[in-house]
Amino acid sequence: MLGICLIAIAVALNVGWILLNVREVALLIFGIVFFAVIITGLTLNTIFLFREIRRNEQHDAFLNAVTHELKTPIASIRLYLETLKTRDVDDKKRAEFYDIMLADSDRLLGTVEQVLQASRTREKSRAMDLSEIDLSELLEEAASITRARYDLDDAAIRYTSPVEKAKIVGDRSELTTVFSNLIDNAVKYSIGAPKISIRLKLSRLNNADIFIRDSGIGIARGDLKRVFKRFYRVPNSAAKDAKGTGLGLSIVRSIVEKHGGWVKAESRGLEKGSTFIVHLPLS
Ligand code: ADP
Repeated sequence: MLGICLIAIAVALNVGWILLNVREVALLIFGIVFFAVIITGLTLNTIFLFREIRRNEQHDAFLNAVTHELKTPIASIRLYLETLKTRDVDDKKRAEFYDIMLADSDRLLGTVEQVLQASRTREKSRAMDLSEIDLSELLEEAASITRARYDLDDAAIRYTSPVEKAKIVGDRSELTTVFSNLIDNAVKYSIGAPKISIRLKLSRLNNADIFIRDSGIGIARGDLKRVFKRFYRVPNSAAKDAKGTGLGLSIVRSIVEKHGGWVKAESRGLEKGSTFIVHLPLS
């Protein structure tokens, strides 16, 4: 606001000044150049200020999300441990409590791992652990990780593979992170029972396109690119209760780019599902 006011005052002063000194050409030119410099400086200052404010807001939202993601499972584990300590619990209940605590600790580990992964993928110099990977196998593995996590059947996450083999040279664990993040999101942002399809398409130019389609809350046109930014979570989204840190897709993008590919999101609009397309060059 201050920047905008200063720009307005500078424009008014300078226009007035020019009108009063029309005849003094040299001064006029000097004034115009000086004016241009001041205006450029103020405009840049205002732009940087806006960016800084937005970044701070995103950092706050991220800290809140991460704190929540860490606090909730710890509070839950603590509650079950207290119950086990203070009450006589039968064997069936006890086993149930252990399962819940294990699931909570997995969630805790998942959040920590995601934060670590986000800083790891930002290190450009970090060497990749390269090996030849069968993409079909990798996609099937990522799908089964998500099926197991959400207790889903085969029909909820369908995978169609091409007849030919698709071999890629890449970092196995990083590529698994890419596809499990995308499939995980497809489940998280589904409406009702998840119906997700994964399709691998090979092109004659030795590239692979992987389509991960869901029938979920969809993404508004203006957010299709923004969702890949670090810490960005769609505000007032239909899936307000979906847990997350806003890091997943930024990790996906940097890993895919490190492998020489690209990733993009498509959606016909809110509540119309989304498709994430990963493009990778094959070996
Ligand atoms: P997180 O899921 O932890 O919030 P991500 O980086 O994975 O972070 O995703 C960023 C945002 O993009 C999400 O908060 C959500 O608003 C949106 N998004 C991601 N995947 C989907 C999807 N399949 N359908 C609809 N919205 C999605």
